[in-house]
Amino acid sequence: MAHRKTQHRIQEFTLIRAIERRFARETPQVVQGIGDDASVFAVSTPKWWHVTTDLLAEAVHFDLSIASPESVGYRAAMANLSDIAAMGAVPRYMLTSIAVPNKFTARHTYKLYQGLMNACCLHNVILVGGDTSASKTGLFLSITLIGTTTKGRALFRRGAHVGDLIYVTGTLGDSLAGLQLLIDDKKTHSPPSKPTQLPRFHRRFLIDRHLHPNARIAEGQWLNTARLATSAIDLSDGLSGDLQHICEESRVGVELDLSKIPISPACRSYAKNSHLQPIQFALTGGEDYELLFTIPRDKQATVERQARNRRYQVTCIGTVRPRQFGIKMRSVEGHLYPIPMTSYEHFR
Ligand code: ADP
Ligand code: MG
Repeated sequence: MAHRKTQHRIQEFTLIRAIERRFARETPQVVQGIGDDASVFAVSTPKWWHVTTDLLAEAVHFDLSIASPESVGYRAAMANLSDIAAMGAVPRYMLTSIAVPNKFTARHTYKLYQGLMNACCLHNVILVGGDTSASKTGLFLSITLIGTTTKGRALFRRGAHVGDLIYVTGTLGDSLAGLQLLIDDKKTHSPPSKPTQLPRFHRRFLIDRHLHPNARIAEGQWLNTARLATSAIDLSDGLSGDLQHICEESRVGVELDLSKIPISPACRSYAKNSHLQPIQFALTGGEDYELLFTIPRDKQATVERQARNRRYQVTCIGTVRPRQFGIKMRSVEGHLYPIPMTSYEHFR
């Protein structure tokens, strides 16, 4: 028993060394990264430090028969980057803790790290530490991400005011449609040969939106530093659920205009093929990692002009209402309905 434990420790050290060799980076701010009991940063100017963490469990958050280890790592990092984006912060340092089951080879672990680091490289994030363990069940992956903003400047969920306009970046529902495509493929085992009316480029677009989302880091920083947004949240659980968070924290209601919700041509065409409503994907689909934010009405022209200049896609989808109004949506025909709370929740 003791022998097995020692063997595990040796494997763990080898793995940590390999991670350090391949992924550690030195900068003047990182006094000590991977390799000691704690990492150490030099802090100069006064800043706010934003810290976020996520725990992902195999079979709960990801399915290794659908997503490769590379994409599991990439998506896990992006989910955390998206939380930092929603605060309007600059992502800086990452810690990653993993519990690895026997079936997961060293090669798999490196692929997972490659995915993590691909996401980090896109946003200039440095891996500064973590922890490693064996797992007797599935794979576990926990990521902690540290970001900064200027002291006194950040985007919170709690700042929306009655009369503000509600905006989202990008298009909604693509990730869920992409996941559905991957699940359909797994069931039929013959993806490319299966005759389908969905054009190949739409298929590829949706699957890529699911496997390789990109956190809206630049957009978040823009909304924060230009003092445009009154509140923000990232869309990780689906529009209906995440909108509810803004409403609760800001003590307001909302009126969504369903006809304004941005849906990609690919998602529309997938929904049509599957005899589903595209709006359903947009409302309930999680993991798009777009930003939802509110702005004062008198900043609308500025927001739209600056977004156009920066080539950011932003769409006004509704208005902030008093709390008593509730959380409602206006249908294409002009009728008001309560928004069904059907976003993805664990333990349900
Ligand atoms: P300790 O016993 O103090 O927890 P470890 O041997 O677990 O030390 O870790 C040694 C160093 O390697 C630390 O800097 C730690 O942050 C880093 N580290 C350990 N596991 C990982 C990992 N999976 N990814 C990145 N860094 C890691
Ligand atoms: Mg440790």
